[in-house]
Amino acid sequence: MPEHFLDRRTLLKSMAGALPLASPGLRAAISSASGDESAPGIPWQQNVRRVGQLNMTEHDPVVLNVEEWADYWASLKVEVTYVSVTGILAFYPTKVPFHRIGRYLGGRDFFGEVNAAARQRGIRTVARMSPDLNWREALDAHPEWFQRNQDGSPRPTPDDPRLFATCMFSTYMTDYVPAIMREINSRYEVDAFYTNGWPPIGRLPVCFCNVCRKLPPAGSVAYWEAFNQRVIYLWKLYDGIAKEKSRTAFYFANLGGGTHAAPNLALLATVCEWFQGDNQGRGGDGAPIWGASLQGRVCRSVLGNKTAVNVVGAWSTGRILWRESVKSIPEMQMWFNETVASGMTPYLHVIGGEDGLGEDRRFEKFGRDYFNWQASNDSHLRPLRTIAEIGVVYGQRTQLFYTPPRDASRLDSMQGIYAALLEGRFFFDFVHEDHLALDRIGRYRALILPNIALLSDAQCAQLRAYAAQGGSLLATFETSLYDETGRRRGDFGLADLFGAHATGPVIAPVGNSNPFYAWIERPHPVLDGFQDTNWLPGPQYRVPVSPTPDPVLTVVPGFPAYPPELSYPRVPRTREPALILRETGGSRIAYIPSDIERSLWISGNADLSRLLQNTIRWVAGDGQPAAIEGEGFIEAFAWETKPGFAVHVLNYNNPNTYRGYLRKFYPIGEQRVRLRLPPGRTIAKVELLRAGGAVPHSLREGTVEFTIPSVLDYEVAALS
Ligand SMILES: [Zn+2]
Repeated sequence: MPEHFLDRRTLLKSMAGALPLASPGLRAAISSASGDESAPGIPWQQNVRRVGQLNMTEHDPVVLNVEEWADYWASLKVEVTYVSVTGILAFYPTKVPFHRIGRYLGGRDFFGEVNAAARQRGIRTVARMSPDLNWREALDAHPEWFQRNQDGSPRPTPDDPRLFATCMFSTYMTDYVPAIMREINSRYEVDAFYTNGWPPIGRLPVCFCNVCRKLPPAGSVAYWEAFNQRVIYLWKLYDGIAKEKSRTAFYFANLGGGTHAAPNLALLATVCEWFQGDNQGRGGDGAPIWGASLQGRVCRSVLGNKTAVNVVGAWSTGRILWRESVKSIPEMQMWFNETVASGMTPYLHVIGGEDGLGEDRRFEKFGRDYFNWQASNDSHLRPLRTIAEIGVVYGQRTQLFYTPPRDASRLDSMQGIYAALLEGRFFFDFVHEDHLALDRIGRYRALILPNIALLSDAQCAQLRAYAAQGGSLLATFETSLYDETGRRRGDFGLADLFGAHATGPVIAPVGNSNPFYAWIERPHPVLDGFQDTNWLPGPQYRVPVSPTPDPVLTVVPGFPAYPPELSYPRVPRTREPALILRETGGSRIAYIPSDIERSLWISGNADLSRLLQNTIRWVAGDGQPAAIEGEGFIEAFAWETKPGFAVHVLNYNNPNTYRGYLRKFYPIGEQRVRLRLPPGRTIAKVELLRAGGAVPHSLREGTVEFTIPSVLDYEVAALS
């Protein structure tokens, strides 16, 4: 280790020890920084537009430069930062038994110093806790606190076998965690409490401790209900403790997971004041670039205008984790762009303060530039209302409890429909399956149900009511073939809407054979762009359905792919429909009995995408509220804002869109935007918030039109 390195650390340690404590003007400073005055009556957390966190390590008390840390976040204009209390390692001299003091703390009150440094700069602080793990000494004294395998053995965490997983149903959560929270309340000022690592994000726990053995079997819908009840119980308990000191304080936890969240998000939204989207960057192989904007759509569908923040990891996310190495700046920038475009609050997250503020400081300039750009455009970047008239239903029960055919992944369906919606440049929202009442979905002209296999009778009735009042619908594959507990029905719950009945189990291709082909029976707008072919490729799996009058596509059964001598259809035509289209009243219903969006996702087949896009266009009808024409693969959002409207364009035209990270951006040319205004509204000015300056616009019959000359990575057209 070089000598100057050691010297600097020693120096920083002595500097950090000499920090002043909280000043009298602190409350006032925090109040003005939070934007309270601009929005009276709204809880402070709903005005938070920027969040920053250096996630503290055990080593930080001897390496982090506290003043530099606080100055950095202040220079980004963040309104909130996180300071580690933890639960695994105490960052302050705790008296709570089994709250182990960090080995580098050296008698210091590191939490207190860091907390004060932020608050002196008008930055609100969140006390960060980790209730998910504890050490051997706690395990020996309180064996009942910990998760167990079936054989009764405790579960060490994979990265460090000295730490064991705690059980959320145990008294660890009702005794130990509250004791720490109350200790913090008794000594410090904080604005909120946050738990990392609990509740679990994407997977439900499987535990065989004495409490969990009495619960319904892990993996069942009944277990999920017990899990949700426990989450809500603990959430309210912790929120109550947070409020024991200050009425405006609150509790929140790590959430996220895109559409594959473990807790019932619609239920959680009833108690949740702050959705902490732990969606820090692209995951493993085959993760597309749009992970953050997908998260934003999930948050908005359950929380509306309540606070949703997306934690963007400056560190290298993905299949191999480099927690203290900064990912490529274009990749991080696009993740921030998506966060802002989809209406979430951006949150910069770095780990560890080695050498003062981290060994890899490439995040510093980027974070400062990005957050300052955002801060200067806050009013335009904050959505008030969606303009979308297409809703995509996401079913949490299907994501958690549906068993797809063979090796299929539950997530592929949502990614496939997302890809088709982006390719078709549609404006759409997500709609949670528990929010299908007419007063919520009545605003949408069309709903899409991408293999929402599990639907209750009540949900089916809600969809029927929606169609009866003119709503249109596109459903695929096993939608409504199972009830809310995962039991298979004899027929589709929505058979009357589909105009078709399931006649047998799912049909899968034999071996490596051709799945099936969809014979073109007659011309129809959903077949636009298909010339010089009599049939289209059929998706991999299908539900056989009863014949319908005048079908557009029918099934030609599959046949071997190899040897080529045998690769020909044995049956030239059947009466089994491959696509069913119906019009009743003002409502258009399209039912595709195959897993078209999942097959699109795993194959990339262009015909499947075109057929899906055409069908979405047909059900949604003419006169969508917004359209963007131009070259390139984009994702777009359009929001009503306080000054008017904002149209966001994300440029995904990039060789690394489907496999990360982005290395650089490739500009796309003219994007011609058309936006229909609500009656009586007008537009005086269209400004480009990234390129800068105004662009000309025309206003005719309540529709505004303008052209964005070029988009590098992201553009926001602000209409006021
Ligand atoms: Zn347990």
